[in-house]
Amino acid sequence: MLPYSADGFVLRRYDLREADRIVVLYTRDRGKVSAVAKGAKRLHSKLAAACEPLTLNRYSISPGRNLDVISQAESRFTFHYVRADLERLAYAIYRADLADLFTDEHMPDEALFAHITGCMYLSEYGCDSETVTRYFETRLLRILGYLPDTERCCVCGKEFAEGGKVVFLPSSGGFACSDCGGGDAFPVSLLSYIRGLADLGPKKLIDITIPDGAKRDLEQVMRLCIENQLTNRLKSKEFVDIVKRLRRGVGE
Ligand SMILES: [Zn+2]
Repeated sequence: MLPYSADGFVLRRYDLREADRIVVLYTRDRGKVSAVAKGAKRLHSKLAAACEPLTLNRYSISPGRNLDVISQAESRFTFHYVRADLERLAYAIYRADLADLFTDEHMPDEALFAHITGCMYLSEYGCDSETVTRYFETRLLRILGYLPDTERCCVCGKEFAEGGKVVFLPSSGGFACSDCGGGDAFPVSLLSYIRGLADLGPKKLIDITIPDGAKRDLEQVMRLCIENQLTNRLKSKEFVDIVKRLRRGVGE
C-alpha cells in the first residue's frame, strides 16, 4: 500500500516501547486509524506535538504490516483554550472517548469527522461545554444510527402524547410510553430536545439555551442510551462528574 496524507484528530495515545507512541486518530478520509509515531517520546522529537491528545494535525503515513507509521506531521489546530481549562478538557476527553468506543478502524465517515472537530471548535470559541457535549452525544448516535425513535413508543408503536411521560427501556434500547414502561420517567418534551440537537448544524448551537432542568434530564437519558450500547465502563464520564463537583465546591 502507498503512503498517504490525512487530516486527523488525536482521540488518544499510548506508549509503545521506550521511545515510541501509538496515536489513535480520527481522520477525515479513512475514519479511525492507529499509527506509530517513532521516537515521539524523545525530547525535541518533531512528532511529539502531533501526538498530543485533542489536537488536529496533517499527517504523512506509511502503511505498515501491523500498524501504520507516521513519517511526518504538521499542526493544524491545537485547541489551546480547551486543553488549558480543566472542565472543557474533561468534557473533550469524554467526547474523544465516545468517538473512540463507538467506531471501528478504517470506516470513513466524513460527517463524523466534521462533528468531532466541530464540537472542539465550539468549545474552543466559548460555547458551554455541557451543551456542546449533549449535542455531541445526540448527533453522534444519530450519525451512527443508534439514536432511538423519539416519535413513537418502542413497545406499542403509539405516538408519544404531548405533556406525557416516557421511559427508556434498556432491553429494547428505545423509549416507551408510560403505559408500556416502568421505572424513572422523563417528560415527553425532552425528546424534542434530543431530536432538535441530533439534527442541528454546529453554527446553530451557539443560539441554543437549554433550561437547567432539561439539561439534567438530558444528561441522564443520554447516559442511559449510551451505556446501553457500550460494554466498556466510561471512566472519562466519571472524570467529568468529579470536575463538575469540584467546580461546584469552589463556587464556580
Ligand atoms: Zn407504549
